[in-house]
Amino acid sequence: MIARVTIIGANRQFDQPFDYRVPPDLEAGIEPGQIVTVPFGRRRAPAKGYVVSVSHKAASSELKTIQAILTGRPVVTAEHLRLAVEMRKRYFCSFSQALDCMVPPRISLVGQKTERAARLVDPDDVMDRLEFGQFRSQGHIRVAELLLQQPLLPLAELKAAAEVSDSVLRTLAKNKVIEIVVQDTVRDRDVPDDVLPYEAPPLRPAQQAALRAIRDAVMTPANGVLREFLLHGITGSGKTEVYLQLADRVLADGKSVIILVPEIALTPQMERRIRGRFGLDVAILHSRLTLTERYETWQQISRGDAHIVVGARSAIFAPLTNIGLIVLDEEHESTYKSSLKPRYHAADIARLRCLLHDAVLLLGSATPSLESYKRTVDGRSVLLSLPERIGQAGRPRMHLIDMKAVQKGGAAAIISEPLQHAIRAALERSEQVMILNNRRGHDRLTICRACGQAVTCGSCEVALIRHVNIHSKTRDKRLLCHHCDRIYPLPDVCPACGEAALEQMGYGTQLVEETVRSLFPETGIVRMDQDTTYGRGSHKTVLAEFADGRARILIGTQMIAKGHDFPNTTVVGILSADQLLNGDDFRQTERGFALMLQASGRAGRGERPGDVFIQAYNTEDKTLADVLAHDTKRFMRREAAYRKRLQYPPFGHIGMVLFSGFGESETKKAADYFQRLLLEARVRFPEYGDLQVLPVAPAPFRKLRNRYRYRLIVKGQDARRMTAWLAMVDDTAPRGSVSRALDLDPQSML
Ligand SMILES: [Zn+2]
Ligand SMILES: [Zn+2]
Ligand SMILES: [Zn+2]
Repeated sequence: MIARVTIIGANRQFDQPFDYRVPPDLEAGIEPGQIVTVPFGRRRAPAKGYVVSVSHKAASSELKTIQAILTGRPVVTAEHLRLAVEMRKRYFCSFSQALDCMVPPRISLVGQKTERAARLVDPDDVMDRLEFGQFRSQGHIRVAELLLQQPLLPLAELKAAAEVSDSVLRTLAKNKVIEIVVQDTVRDRDVPDDVLPYEAPPLRPAQQAALRAIRDAVMTPANGVLREFLLHGITGSGKTEVYLQLADRVLADGKSVIILVPEIALTPQMERRIRGRFGLDVAILHSRLTLTERYETWQQISRGDAHIVVGARSAIFAPLTNIGLIVLDEEHESTYKSSLKPRYHAADIARLRCLLHDAVLLLGSATPSLESYKRTVDGRSVLLSLPERIGQAGRPRMHLIDMKAVQKGGAAAIISEPLQHAIRAALERSEQVMILNNRRGHDRLTICRACGQAVTCGSCEVALIRHVNIHSKTRDKRLLCHHCDRIYPLPDVCPACGEAALEQMGYGTQLVEETVRSLFPETGIVRMDQDTTYGRGSHKTVLAEFADGRARILIGTQMIAKGHDFPNTTVVGILSADQLLNGDDFRQTERGFALMLQASGRAGRGERPGDVFIQAYNTEDKTLADVLAHDTKRFMRREAAYRKRLQYPPFGHIGMVLFSGFGESETKKAADYFQRLLLEARVRFPEYGDLQVLPVAPAPFRKLRNRYRYRLIVKGQDARRMTAWLAMVDDTAPRGSVSRALDLDPQSML
């Protein structure tokens, strides 16, 4: 008996299955999709690999022998193996990288009885260091704070929760801040299983029509034709109820369902609601699960103990069989595209799986992406609309505040007078307020009045942002780099010219919070941004304070606009609208539009009408007019015309190769060389003749974390050919000290 095995972690050079002999004692138990250990190359320790196929041919005597089967049940299915083949073609990754991104991380560790964990060497010392600002990196601070909350954390979990790399933990261990211990792999605490009992509310006519159209499609086999719907429902129009009732029907029909939602919407509140509705038949995958919980949930789905899966992006790979329906809620969210290799988009994987299962794809959004909208225009997807809100509140009243007319300095420059009045009135009526300012930190820039230079990070060419040290009793401020997490003391004089003329400009969420506190000193106020919400649970406590009314004003970045339902909120303030709409990225306007519309949708739900105040300098901006009129179609038409002119997605495809290296000239040289290979390949293979190569240029962030960054952009109409062309050159180009990342239709061009 022979098994073909793909080695986990093999680079593209060894990215192919290898044949192994199956010893007699393993013959009965071996199946494709299992993880096995095999001898490989010169490595002394056995390698792990996925069994790709098994055949009954006799093994020749030269073949090496499989040593052990690590997983009783297969961890990936035949379908995953097919998806991996397709992903390898599309996303510039190896076969095992594709499989690794599908399964929970713990799976490749199976068989290990111990794991490494970290704890603080001296918690008192760490508290002092925090208070006196002695850490030099925000990443170090996050690790310290997490270990103060939870004294012993497995390394993998700590890294994920604190968003730091191995090298951060190594540095902290070297400096005797943390110590690494080996512990037995522990089973984690159970998820609390209190649920909210649920009763399906009656549907309105528009919801019923949408439900019927999609259900009919699910019930009718299509044999190889993709059925796709775009549900465009304004905030509060009851999209979720359509998903849930559809899921009910599909489950009753004996099929299974995947519902993807953005990570940020997977709140405990939502979890309880879904559990109340589907009981034990639902598996929920989100980042608050520990690695062990993830692994066990995956096994539960794979055993067939759950038929509906709700989760963030990677839940698209859930090992369900007989799928009838896949839903992507808030399909416009950029988090559906992975920013790490393989850089897949969940909607593309969903389309592949729908074809394999003869299932229906449903995309839902209040502000559909231009990509999905164009598919409806092209007849590849069916547009369904939910045009009205449930309840009497109706659309919020929109107010545009011209900030050009407002005096600089003082509270009104941040919270304008009309917004202040509205907040006061809402508080008097015992209602709540949300304030969106999509910049964290205290201010925007520290700039020198004498020479005009902004203070920048030594490792990154970006301006440093002043932050309050929340552990310091005197609320000391220091400068923080938002890209490398490095912390700098506040300089007394300008580092460039030596004058004592430094001044702060602009405002971030911390200054907004201070301003609101000074205006409404008696009111409970909470802030929610990256600085207040990393780690397990902290996000939950901020939201809980606002949900139960202890806090009356919620201030935050885009996080507050997404997926939360606070029916008592009647006033929404959107600060710095200009900054939301303008940026270096071609998707910035689309994102700004979507964010402002979502934030507006938070105002006035149920019975209460809402008021939205948008503060802007460029009050003539056309996108702003679309937001005020809630006119998504008009916005889409204008945005489509602009993208079409530039041949940007969805009217063409962009391939981006980002080069980064410690030396500027070697980085540019590597990019130039890659460009030359592309041009040569285009001459040699005429099928690539229509693809364009733009000149090599520094990325908008030219230097980050001490690495220089250059980008190469290619454009064309055919994604498949463009990918093949880039992959061919990528496989032949030398790999040196300059690294490169390839991405098709990137979400960020920065
Ligand atoms: Zn949330
Ligand atoms: Zn200066
Ligand atoms: Zn930096």
